[in-house]
Amino acid sequence: MFRHIIIFGATGSIGTSTLNVIRRNRHHFSVVGIAANTNVEKLAQIAHEFSVPNVGIFDKHAFTGKDSLFKRGTHFFVGEDGLCELAQLSEATAVSMAMAGIAGLKPTMAAIEGKKTLLLASKEILVATGKFVMESARTNDVQILPVDSEHNAIFQCLLGNGNDFIDRLILTASGGPFRNFSRQEMENISVEQALRHPVWNMGKKITVDSATMANKALEIVEAKWLFDVPSDHIDVVIHPESIVHSMVKFCDGSIIAQMCPPNMEYPIANCLFFPERERLAKPSINFAEQGRLNFFAPDTTKFPHLAIIRRCLEADSNACAVFQAANEVAVDEFLNHRIKFTQISEIVAKTLDIYLGEPMTSLKSCEESVIKARSTAKGIAKEFN
Ligand code: MG
Repeated sequence: MFRHIIIFGATGSIGTSTLNVIRRNRHHFSVVGIAANTNVEKLAQIAHEFSVPNVGIFDKHAFTGKDSLFKRGTHFFVGEDGLCELAQLSEATAVSMAMAGIAGLKPTMAAIEGKKTLLLASKEILVATGKFVMESARTNDVQILPVDSEHNAIFQCLLGNGNDFIDRLILTASGGPFRNFSRQEMENISVEQALRHPVWNMGKKITVDSATMANKALEIVEAKWLFDVPSDHIDVVIHPESIVHSMVKFCDGSIIAQMCPPNMEYPIANCLFFPERERLAKPSINFAEQGRLNFFAPDTTKFPHLAIIRRCLEADSNACAVFQAANEVAVDEFLNHRIKFTQISEIVAKTLDIYLGEPMTSLKSCEESVIKARSTAKGIAKEFN
């Protein structure tokens, strides 16, 4: 197997893990393109190490005057249009999409139209525009491989099993660092506390989303689109050890679970090598040493995002896009010390009280909902400052 791959979000947490897998399997991959939002210096390092001929930068200003950091003859793709062009590069067979938020939406659509196998890590894209992304993937006969650990687990559980036989998808959640906090204690959670995740090592936004469990709410929507399962057939269970990454319950009562250590290189390697598997032996679970695995029901009063998303999924609109956008604004306010931890979910709920999103008619309607939701959420956040 040999794959020519482009990595969007190459400088972030998922991009770094993707490059770690590729580094130890050089004879299977050629990195033909990399892209990032602003971190030109790190892109230049990666370009040198992996001899990458094509480089994309989303932020034009961050790139100004820095082309000398790269080898002569490097092709540059700047701005959103540039990234879309990069995603369709004829020498690439696969595109890994791991840009933060929905910044990667247009390049993702371009990659699908360019018939590239898509390794999708940016869950916000599916949450906001899943209907249209999946429609386009079907029309263009493009396979989407889920990088998110829970969805990659479900993807593996479903191999050899038809969708017709699914009864329920069971998403596991670590429960984050505040699983055992009282409501009172949650009021005073600092940014530093929220950024310390007990199990997973990830980027800032997703670490806060794990602490509020907004991440799991987003993952319900992500699973609905990826696997075409109605959201009332998708459950969440707390599993603090993060060994079982998710499960599928079939119509005959059998449940299949996927397990591995909590490290993103496992699901990433699964996608990079699919339908084959990485042959390098990696450490795995020793059950005798592990002893026990625990499972609990989530507390939706302490983690309101989980209840709010159910309301969005019932709405006949882009409410999930509104949820996602309002949450992004609220997390940013929290990271900048302008609001309390518990106000993150309050901002999301209040935004949805005011605005449930446009009817889900087109990709354009999703983008409009995101823009309106962001400004509504910003207005609400100001009242909390
Ligand atoms: Mg996940």
